Amino acid sequence: MIYPLLTVEIRFEQDIVLARQRARQIAILLGFDAQEHTRIATAVSEVVRNSLNYGKGGKVEFLVEEQSLLVFIARISFKGAKIEDVQASLEESDSDEIGFGLLGARRLMDRVWVKALPNGRTAVSLSKLFPDRIQAINKQQFAQIVENLARQTPQNPYAEIQQQNQELLQTLAELRQRQEELAQLNQELEDTNRGVVALYAELSDKAEELKRASELKSRFLSYMSHEFRTPLNAIISLSNMLLARIDGDLTSEQEKQVNFIHKSAQSLTDLVNDLLDIAKVEAGKLDVCISAVDVADLFGALRVIMRPLLAQKNAVELIFEDFSHDVARLQTDEGKLSQILRNLISNAIKYTESGEVRASVQKGVDQTIVFSVVDTGVGIAQENQSRIFEEFVRLNEFTSKPIQGTGLGLPLCKKLVELLGGRIELQSELGVGSTFSVILPKIDAQEINVDSAKTNEASKPLSPLRSPIKILIIDDNEVDRYTIKNWLTELSCTAIEASNGYVGLELAKTEQPQAIFLDLIMPGLTGFEVLDRLKLHTNTRDIPVIIISSMTLEASEYERLAVSAVAIFKKENASAKEAIAKLKQALVKAGVLF
Ligand code: ADP
Repeated sequence: MIYPLLTVEIRFEQDIVLARQRARQIAILLGFDAQEHTRIATAVSEVVRNSLNYGKGGKVEFLVEEQSLLVFIARISFKGAKIEDVQASLEESDSDEIGFGLLGARRLMDRVWVKALPNGRTAVSLSKLFPDRIQAINKQQFAQIVENLARQTPQNPYAEIQQQNQELLQTLAELRQRQEELAQLNQELEDTNRGVVALYAELSDKAEELKRASELKSRFLSYMSHEFRTPLNAIISLSNMLLARIDGDLTSEQEKQVNFIHKSAQSLTDLVNDLLDIAKVEAGKLDVCISAVDVADLFGALRVIMRPLLAQKNAVELIFEDFSHDVARLQTDEGKLSQILRNLISNAIKYTESGEVRASVQKGVDQTIVFSVVDTGVGIAQENQSRIFEEFVRLNEFTSKPIQGTGLGLPLCKKLVELLGGRIELQSELGVGSTFSVILPKIDAQEINVDSAKTNEASKPLSPLRSPIKILIIDDNEVDRYTIKNWLTELSCTAIEASNGYVGLELAKTEQPQAIFLDLIMPGLTGFEVLDRLKLHTNTRDIPVIIISSMTLEASEYERLAVSAVAIFKKENASAKEAIAKLKQALVKAGVLF
């Protein structure tokens, strides 16, 4: 339905002003919002001006079209301008004046379109949708509008210019207000930016502080762990000696007490070792030594290591599942992988009352290899599954039957797995059991060189001595010297003691011992330096040296020592049997023992 409202003829310049006035009056009467009045009036006057400038004048019809929507239309038809030019000007953004007017109108109205009319006439239609609040206008309302229009006599052009000026002033005022708002917004943004920059600086300071604190923590842990280790080793060695009845028998009560001492010292050593390892990983000081790993050997060793723990759990069975040949060998750090699996399997045994613990290995997706430890134990509630990888988090410590532990095993496992380029995953259900999976990148294994000539020197019977044997012990710790001296009783040899590197070097030259036990961490000359100097002198260079120290060696340090020493032991792991076996082996090689 189309409702014509008014037609204005365009013949002279002043008709532009008239058309503008009428457009504004109509916009007001139709109920458009105030800012739309100026837009409609300006769009109409722009196109009417063009029709006069480039055509020969014509008319402008104002109407309302009611279909699905209510639309106001101003249709300006004129003669003389080529339809193609008008059309082109509307489409080109960098056009001449015709286009400028049309393009301006297009920005102010909802739609502008051009149509060719008979007799060489052209029509430009400008349309604007009614505001949402006006859904319909009935016939009576239209009649009223038309009547009002007829009554409103056109004002003189000055009045319109005055009106236009006022609008301009208002627009300028609005613009100024916008500018002020924008300036204020800019200021706020700048302030916010400055705040953000300050926050970043603070964050970066905090991060630096945290890093320093973390480094300090690692250094402190590392230092304390070393300091703890020496007395702990002494306690373990001495209690071992007592339990071995080297200095006489024990009553059953004494044996029980010494066992307690040994056990407590051992668990404290575990804690200290875990702390030291965590500190080392955090400080990036733990080297990864990649070598070919034989999974059957690894599982075999783990089976033996777990035996004592398993012996305390009659109702738990430990099963190492068979595996396919494509996962039988891999390249990784064997020591760290073994440490990870040892932790997971011992946890599985610890937290399982009855049932089984299964260790297995299989191929994973994307060239990975997956080690799994599955248990039928207490399980872990969903909400605790990520927490248990945090340091010192223990779930069962306040239960009626607390289980021994430090809360460091899993965090260390996680760190070690990540160090090996893998990740650790957990699936668990409370009361049903848990599955810990270690997913490692699979690096193709080279063939493992199996030393076919491996013989067990320790099992060889002791041969007669060629001459009385002198063994030099260089260690600043009196208890450790005493422990080693005790091991040597089996060989009925003379032990010479040196409490520092300088004395040790001197005694090595003057006493010409058949072998040397050497500590690494000593005040003054370190064991490394003593070893280097021993190897420099012609009369000490051939004396076999056995390193025995509490120091955790980096791969490079280990390699450096391995060139010159016949064996390297860690104090807390060293057993009399192994140390003596190595000593005997060295003495046989040196021709001291037959
Ligand atoms: P902990 O020395 O206490 O065993 P871990 O870091 O190894 O320390 O483990 C943290 C906690 O996670 C344990 O205290 C225990 O509550 C829980 N946990 C670890 N492994 C298992 C498991 N296999 N089954 C049930 N709970 C487990």
